[in-house]
Amino acid sequence: YRCLRLILGDQLNAHHSWYKHKHDDVLYVIAELHQETSYTTHHIQKICAFFSAMEHFAQALTKAGHNVAYLSLDDTRALKTIPELIKSLILKYKINIFEYQLPDEYRLRSQLSSFTNSLSIEVNYFETEHFYLDEAQLTESFKQGKSHKMEAFYRRMRKKFNILMDGEKPLGGDWNYDKQNRNKLKSADFAKVPEPLLFKHDVNNIIARLKRHDVKTIGRINDNLNWPVTRIQAKTLLDFFCQYCLAGFGQFQDAMTCKLDNALQSSQWSLFHSRLSFALNSKMLSPEFVISTVVAYYHKHQQQISLPQIEGFVRQILGWREFVRGIYWANMPQYAQLNHLKAEHALPSWFWNGSTHMNCLKHAIQQSLDYAYAHHIQRLMITGNFCLLAGIDPDVVDDWYLGVYIDAIEWVEMPNTRGMSQFADGGIVGSKAYAASGNYVKKMSDYCSGCQYDVTQATGKNACPLNSLYWRFMNKHEEAFATNPRNSMVYANWRRKSELQRKEIIEQAEQYLIDIELL
Ligand code: FAD
Ligand code: SF4
Repeated sequence: YRCLRLILGDQLNAHHSWYKHKHDDVLYVIAELHQETSYTTHHIQKICAFFSAMEHFAQALTKAGHNVAYLSLDDTRALKTIPELIKSLILKYKINIFEYQLPDEYRLRSQLSSFTNSLSIEVNYFETEHFYLDEAQLTESFKQGKSHKMEAFYRRMRKKFNILMDGEKPLGGDWNYDKQNRNKLKSADFAKVPEPLLFKHDVNNIIARLKRHDVKTIGRINDNLNWPVTRIQAKTLLDFFCQYCLAGFGQFQDAMTCKLDNALQSSQWSLFHSRLSFALNSKMLSPEFVISTVVAYYHKHQQQISLPQIEGFVRQILGWREFVRGIYWANMPQYAQLNHLKAEHALPSWFWNGSTHMNCLKHAIQQSLDYAYAHHIQRLMITGNFCLLAGIDPDVVDDWYLGVYIDAIEWVEMPNTRGMSQFADGGIVGSKAYAASGNYVKKMSDYCSGCQYDVTQATGKNACPLNSLYWRFMNKHEEAFATNPRNSMVYANWRRKSELQRKEIIEQAEQYLIDIELL
């Protein structure tokens, strides 16, 4: 072969221009790399899903007539890093040209860039051709350290790509229907919640390889892997979403329940969410394909699907997903060090097994360990909120999120975790900290009714820990937050409490922090 092309595990874009033509002298390499299994401790389902999707992608490329080398963990045993692997393949096949697609993670992009600088053969890199904004447009749209407004960005994207538009105006007259998208699930709604479409892949071979190579993992796996690992399956999941979930997506987007979820049994654990993040982040599906499919479905089925449902979905992908990518690239590598609130505590050990008495956290963590999945509000307002209030070091929070979720890749994980949920970036992603007391959880879920803690109390033996922790957090960071007009009511309420009440609340919170392992 003359040319070697590297395909990373999250670059499974079958529509990339690389594959338009077959070249006898090009060898594609897709490899299970030891460096990728160990940069954090991943959920077992996450590694199985990536390896399985990579293997299927290699098979599809081979079937289409391309030359592909798929290397398993066994094959790369002695070539643990990308540079080691590529150097050895260059020698083995007498390669003259090395080509790669730009990685979406800073870690890999800088590794490849410094490695290829040391190569004496020709090197070319390409875009991944996945996102709405290409590299140049992204750089143009985001500036380092600047706090960009997602809403303004989202409106520009709607106009630029002409999505849900009526000429120059947003379809329906409003850009955003978020206010209509905050319903709690009531018992009467339960029957409407679909059972998730689950795929069944035997991944025992992969699990055996992981064992053979001592790869440390977290979480559990059922007999089969349930995530889509081919483009056809990803498209089937997208169609399933349109048919069964889209009609309830927006209105129940923030809702949480523990009443419909039996661990590892078929149940309704993902509510109306799409579970498309793995298919998107591995690039089996492009955001453009997902949005155009869903919008076309909406136009055909307007009796069943209202505008707020589709707008809410489009906003997540066209807005948030492209937005956090822009924030990440404008601010790396400094972003990974930010700790605006100087949070420094360790993550309680129950984050790794779900064994806490706080029902909301227990449910969100156990679900994450069972399925490698939790929806956005569970990530932001349950686990994320707890870490924020308890002052957990953002490095360890990032590490937990990066490991546990099926869709966790740093470019999207970090701005969401360190930025949106931990406010460690001081407001680059969002202008306010998403801090909440137990009252929010009570409003949006049924967690509190089955909890040993009393959500109505801030002090006393069984008082909900989130209440005192919330007040302690707001009090501690008053200087940083009081200037935000959105917090004026909060501080007015705090001051309305007597000095004794405030003292008792702070003492209760301090005691909970001392006993954090027992909560
Ligand atoms: P749906 O609710 O069906 O939404 C549809 C799609 O919109 C998602 O598949 C996703 O591609 C996109 N999306 C929605 N919200 C966001 C967002 N805030 N940022 C980027 N894309 C979004 N998403 C990841 O893909 N990887 C992560 O590692 C990740 N880490 C997160 C960590 C925290 C603390 C928080 C608060 C959010 C995180 N998110 C992450 C965003 C979001 O929670 C997930 O994308 C979503 O839960 C995936 O499930 P779904 O496919 O069912 O999403
Ligand atoms: Fe969570 Fe508090 Fe409700 Fe328990 S009472 S579920 S700890 S919010």
